[in-house]
Amino acid sequence: MPDEETAVPSVGESFVEESPTGSETPTARPKRLAVILLGVALALTIGAVIFLVVQLLSANSRIAEQNRELDHQRELIEKKETFGTAMAQLLETASLLDGSLMSSLVPLDSYESIARLAWSHRWSAGSVEADTRRIQSEEATLKDLVSEASVQAGSNTSGTTYEAVIDDLGGGHVTTVIDDADTLCEADVLACVVYDDPFAVHFDAADAGQPYMTDWLRTGIAYHEFAHVLQMTNPDATDTALEAFGGDPETMADCFALTYLSGWTLDHRVYVSSYEYWDVSIGYGYTCDETQAQAVRDWYGQLGVHLRPISQSR
Ligand SMILES: [Zn+2]
Repeated sequence: MPDEETAVPSVGESFVEESPTGSETPTARPKRLAVILLGVALALTIGAVIFLVVQLLSANSRIAEQNRELDHQRELIEKKETFGTAMAQLLETASLLDGSLMSSLVPLDSYESIARLAWSHRWSAGSVEADTRRIQSEEATLKDLVSEASVQAGSNTSGTTYEAVIDDLGGGHVTTVIDDADTLCEADVLACVVYDDPFAVHFDAADAGQPYMTDWLRTGIAYHEFAHVLQMTNPDATDTALEAFGGDPETMADCFALTYLSGWTLDHRVYVSSYEYWDVSIGYGYTCDETQAQAVRDWYGQLGVHLRPISQSR
């Protein structure tokens, strides 16, 4: 029916098929795809940036760690070199005492023990630094010994034969003290040396003033006492030598004086006027035989400071 509207579309018109939701047109699809692609790209970019940042931070952290490790290594090397220099300086100063008769002046075993400690401390800069300070302190001690010995050998403050002989024998490393040796050594003695201070010889002041006391007797007494200094400051060598004397350090000390002081005897007649004299016995009443004298020579020949290289790994 002509007046009736038909549902037939006219030419040029098109149908628009509604979507199931009725809200989107076909032209929206590429837009959505683009948005999705953009979103993915953005996510990938952000992911990549985060990844790079994490990598960068991690690399920076590794570099910082490596730098710290390098600094630590450099510090260790520096501390070890400083220790080596200090030890070389110590041995150079010790060489000033090479040949001195008292081996305990230069405690090489102690130096070696510090060197071994420094080796075991080689991964700890602080500990190696402490070891270096100990070596420097040992060197300062040796320097003091050398300068004190120089002063001591060049002066005779007591103005006595005792001191002249002791300075000569000990190279200035042994002090002469004229005091109450009887009280110090708890016996009636002409002189004595105590283990606590083996670098000092104490001569009894009262005996030193006796009318029979001559410089010759003082010299012999000083030789006997110096033997005690050597015994106490060279304990290893002395242990062996004492065997020739049945372990008696006194007869060995007498033997030292008899062997090295030409003309010395233990018994003396000392005239104090043309008709008065004293018969004086110095020592312990036994004159050593040739075998014992040779034991003393062998002992004396090996005494003293003998420098050697210091090892860190023995
Ligand atoms: Zn004695």
